[in-house]
Amino acid sequence: QSVWSQVPQAPPDAILGVTEAFKADKSPKKLNLGVGAYRTEEGKPVVLDVVKEAEQRIVNSPTGDKEYLGIGGLPEFCRLSAQLAYGECSKVLQEGRVAVVQSLSGTGSLRVGGEFLAAHYPHKIIYLPTPTWANHNKIFPNAGLEVRKYRYYLPRTRLLDYEGMMEDLKSAPQGAVVLLHACAHNPTGVDPSPQQWEGIRSIIQQRQLLPFFDSAYQGFASGSLERDATAVRMFADAGMELLLSQSYAKNMGLYGERVGALSVVTTDPKTTKKVESQLKQVIRPMYSNPPRHGAAIVAMILGNPKLYEHWKVELKGMADRIITMREKLHQALVDQGAPGDWSFILKQIGMFSFTGLTKEQVTNMTNKWHIYMTFDGRISMAGLSASCCSYLAEAMIDSYK
Ligand code: PMP
Repeated sequence: QSVWSQVPQAPPDAILGVTEAFKADKSPKKLNLGVGAYRTEEGKPVVLDVVKEAEQRIVNSPTGDKEYLGIGGLPEFCRLSAQLAYGECSKVLQEGRVAVVQSLSGTGSLRVGGEFLAAHYPHKIIYLPTPTWANHNKIFPNAGLEVRKYRYYLPRTRLLDYEGMMEDLKSAPQGAVVLLHACAHNPTGVDPSPQQWEGIRSIIQQRQLLPFFDSAYQGFASGSLERDATAVRMFADAGMELLLSQSYAKNMGLYGERVGALSVVTTDPKTTKKVESQLKQVIRPMYSNPPRHGAAIVAMILGNPKLYEHWKVELKGMADRIITMREKLHQALVDQGAPGDWSFILKQIGMFSFTGLTKEQVTNMTNKWHIYMTFDGRISMAGLSASCCSYLAEAMIDSYK
């Protein structure tokens, strides 16, 4: 009898479990639209050419070694990451008001940010949108924060529930933390318009709430790094304090390298220093210091004008392919006479489309059509190719019945 015999079986992960089921399916028609990773038109994972080039330069560098990084990571990486998010001419950067540490991709940033808040911020409540990326619901309680919800998506209109969101933010207790998806909201693909962002910003400022931006898709959503940073910059430029999690998983395709950044905007350089010292206090007993390879790649690309331009072209290529898939799926649904209005597929942005399929309908998609997706009805547009759109449309029409 094992000492672990009483350990209960944990349920499979809501998102990663889909890939497990997909792998076990023997059908040649099978399609995995569950996981949030970019695929080529041929369904293959990609390493960006600019990443390969940066890796070559790193490997060939005479100064390269495998020493530990500092607790806060590679300084050049941190500086360039903040510049990418807040903008080159950003006031908060010029004034020394941003504490930055390297992190274990977006997930690691959120967790370190959550633990920092639990230790040093007087209000222990974080508001999450309904729905949100499933992992948010676990990261923040594990970090020691109480999770509450604000309305975000209205299934009836398939649009932002702006009024509901504003009401919930108005009634949130003063000081509460509010998690905001910087762009390409996961799983709905529904983002506020710039005017709505301004309304959200203003209510957050009035109520003295603390914004925590989750930016997992900068440049990957619209194809423009600037456009996808609009909300973060709007808040920072308005003189607000905030937290920001950045991930290079999608926009540089560095998923498994686990490279990201956490930054905290404060009011003055002295506070920035103190905050940075406490972020390191969270990191040191958790994983000591972050890995260097991914950060070296990012720092090389962001710091070299030629590589940076090359990256922007490849990034736009990925974003454009996803936008094209939206058009093709929409067209296939219309061509096959699907009843109703499907324009939401074109309006949504980012890697995912929120189809509105119910759990039972998703089960039909999987069992009958071998199409794998999460039970909330989310499909990854990046996992789709032009040749599959017609098959997917047929399956969707059948499942909606
Ligand atoms: N936040 C959101 C909204 C995401 O969609 C993701 C990736 N699925 C992440 C954070 C974190 O991903 P990673 O830890 O791989 O950077």
